[in-house]
Amino acid sequence: MLRKLIAGNWKMNGLKAEGVALARDLGIRYAEDEDAAFDMLICPPATLIDSVGEVIAGSGILLGGQDCHSETAGAHTGDVSAEMLADLGCSWVIVGHSERRQDHGEIDLAVAEKAKAVHRAGLCAIICIGETEAERAAGHALSICSRQLAGSIPTNATAENTVIAYEPVWAIGTGKTATAGDVADVHSHIRAELSRKIADADKVRILYGGSVKPANAAELMSVPNVDGALVGGASLKADDFWAIGQSCA
Ligand code: PEP
Repeated sequence: MLRKLIAGNWKMNGLKAEGVALARDLGIRYAEDEDAAFDMLICPPATLIDSVGEVIAGSGILLGGQDCHSETAGAHTGDVSAEMLADLGCSWVIVGHSERRQDHGEIDLAVAEKAKAVHRAGLCAIICIGETEAERAAGHALSICSRQLAGSIPTNATAENTVIAYEPVWAIGTGKTATAGDVADVHSHIRAELSRKIADADKVRILYGGSVKPANAAELMSVPNVDGALVGGASLKADDFWAIGQSCA
């Protein structure tokens, strides 16, 4: 069994005082829990990375960005590079989140370029994939995941520098969750597909994301090939995010 990764995606939420307070609370809990059975990652908005990094320093919690540009530096107003995130202490970057794909028109090739940039900076990429409700209704959930995996994973990906997050778009922020059976089917399909692209595919962590909360986390985390969770809304409440982590025990 792979050690589980519980990753919090704060999205565009949090002013400095509340973000720092949330991070401090989690940092204290994680530092005190010597037997934590999971890795914890926080991905705050870019504005908070520096201050969150300061308060979680030494706690064991990992720090990540929510996106990056594929270039190292240059005339790209509003963007941040993977090197800039590394400079702030990030070791992870989420790429290809469905909100980036939808809101910014990011296609698989762009996601692969971003993941390559994350690796270039020496960081780990969390590459997000997942079908829409219409695609699932049409019976295309697995083929969409195959297409996104084939197009979004760069050639230098390994189990050390890459994590896959399966996030059915219809389950994100909606309160709807995929059933344990559906998650098992998709995750085992992803594992099989990964073996075409990555030598040590059995060691790649595959996260589930989509309305994970304390009430459903234990069931989801016990599904075969589920190696953690990417959590949006529930990562903004220390008690809920902590309880999700505890469900990995
Ligand atoms: C996400 O945005 O990655 C996510 C899974 O959000 P939520 O947990 O709120 O559904």
